[in-house]
Amino acid sequence: MRTNRTFTMIKPDGVANNHIGAILNDITTAGFKIVAMKYTQLSTDLAGKFYAVHAERPFYKDLVAFMSSGPIVAAILEKDNAVADFRTLIGATDPAKADVGTLRNKYAQSIDANTVHGSDSDENAEIEGAFYFTAFERF
Ligand code: GDP
Repeated sequence: MRTNRTFTMIKPDGVANNHIGAILNDITTAGFKIVAMKYTQLSTDLAGKFYAVHAERPFYKDLVAFMSSGPIVAAILEKDNAVADFRTLIGATDPAKADVGTLRNKYAQSIDANTVHGSDSDENAEIEGAFYFTAFERF
């Protein structure tokens, strides 16, 4: 299991609000190397599968609808201690509670439209990266 990779998405609000360039710049300035990337849109079926772990949560339906509402950017990032360092860079789930200077503090409006996803473990980074990228695209 790699411990130096994480998976991210720039969510539909981040793309719609034209923050792709600024967010990627913040990510690479923070020392992450982009090792795979694609611009795509999830169907409701795929969004439901990606967030299946939250299927019992009250916000699941809204989350699936939001995540399939427009294009996203998916990427695999490489850095020592990638998962924890990227969670620090993106900030708390609720942008109102995210530290100043974090991506969610800078670019997000609400807990559902919180602009950036970051894996919460090495295991999920591997699973989520494989959800979007074939072995040839994430060498
Ligand atoms: P994360 O790891 O910080 O992204 O947070 P979670 O894994 O707990 O939740 C996954 C995603 O579900 C979050 O990024 C939000 O987009 C969404 N979410 C979490 N809590 C809520 C909530 O209370 N209401 C709504 N509408 N969405 C939520």
